Amino acid sequence: MNYTRAKLAIEGGEPVRSTYLPYGMHWVDEEDIQAVVDVLRTGWLTTGPKVAEFEEAFAEQVGARYAVALSSGTAGLHAAVYALGVGPGDEVITTPYTFAASANCVLFQGGTAVFADVDEDTFNISPRAIEERITSRTKAIIPVHFAGHPCDMDEIVAIARRHGLTIIEDACHALGAEYKGVSIGGIGDMSVFSLHPVKHITAGEGGVVTTNNPHLAERLRSFRNHSMSTDARERMEAGAWYYEVTDLGYNYRLTDLQCALALSQLKKLEHFVELRNDIAAQYTQALSLLPEVIPPGVRPDVRHAWHIYVVRLDSSRLEADREAIFAALRAENIGVNVHYIPVHLHPYYRERFGYKRGDYPVAEAAYDSAITLPLFPKMTHQDVRDVLSAVEKVVERYRKTEG
Ligand SMILES: *Cc1c(COP(=O)(O)O)cnc(C)c1O
Repeated sequence: MNYTRAKLAIEGGEPVRSTYLPYGMHWVDEEDIQAVVDVLRTGWLTTGPKVAEFEEAFAEQVGARYAVALSSGTAGLHAAVYALGVGPGDEVITTPYTFAASANCVLFQGGTAVFADVDEDTFNISPRAIEERITSRTKAIIPVHFAGHPCDMDEIVAIARRHGLTIIEDACHALGAEYKGVSIGGIGDMSVFSLHPVKHITAGEGGVVTTNNPHLAERLRSFRNHSMSTDARERMEAGAWYYEVTDLGYNYRLTDLQCALALSQLKKLEHFVELRNDIAAQYTQALSLLPEVIPPGVRPDVRHAWHIYVVRLDSSRLEADREAIFAALRAENIGVNVHYIPVHLHPYYRERFGYKRGDYPVAEAAYDSAITLPLFPKMTHQDVRDVLSAVEKVVERYRKTEG
């Protein structure tokens, strides 16, 4: 379609779409619904057989020995930081270009979050920057596989070995991703996934931590249930009542209803990730004709999980800034978004730790020029065409003319 002379919706023209297209969305079908209804007819609504069944299937899916289901990805990150024994005085290195939970989880346990800037091609944490931030107090690294593109895990694992550090992967974007042919989920000491509706599969809310280490798996299990020595199902099956609270734990349990949904969704994961890859490929191909819009970089040795598709705008070629382009796309009914406000620039971090603009320039530049295009498996070909038509229409309107 040629939108060259079409008036932008924000200037009173017709929008490309008549209905709003969100940036991300779950896909729940009748089979998923039936799986949840079936659980409602059983005697277990929480911490029953579906939790164990889901955990086993999930561990197998990502190639880890253990999976522990929790009430959210954030709870999973908190549990992972706890399981390592991070506390006051300990430093944990993570990226500023992420959702706040990747860093908040360190603070939950009284530790210090230390940021290392990102690489320019993938927006993933830079191994060199990690190494520069290591001190005698550093205990762990939390790499985030931004947008679903795996971090440079060979480098990060080598750094962790050299310095005796543990790796917690924030894999909330990366279910279904692979690094050099190995699934994300079995590489670091622990990997954390989210089951929020915009993520690859959903349980409404939910999270999973995977690990190959039985000791860590035990600590994660205990932490999600008040650090009690047994859970309700174990006590019932043993005909026993006694338990002990052995540490300060939380109620971070995931219900059987949610695990039934997640288990049913897990069967569709491969298909969902393929569809995400298809849509991303269509975007990247079409955008190669628009020099003002820079598609995300993909390194050769990965399978991308495409949680989000984040482009950068080349401001030197455009008369409008990111805010204006964003507003123009929203007016066309395209649900663009922005990922992420760097964590150190949030008021809580600025005020508590004194961070400011300029501290992590690569992450800040990425944030300033980023726009996230809609991407979810249920998108139709027409939805994809609408996004591309709207981007073309808006960019052509704001393109800087020669001279
Ligand atoms: C979604 C997400 C989380 C948190 O997951 P919830 O399930 O929403 O708590 C953490 N880190 C990153 C990078 C995420 O995208």
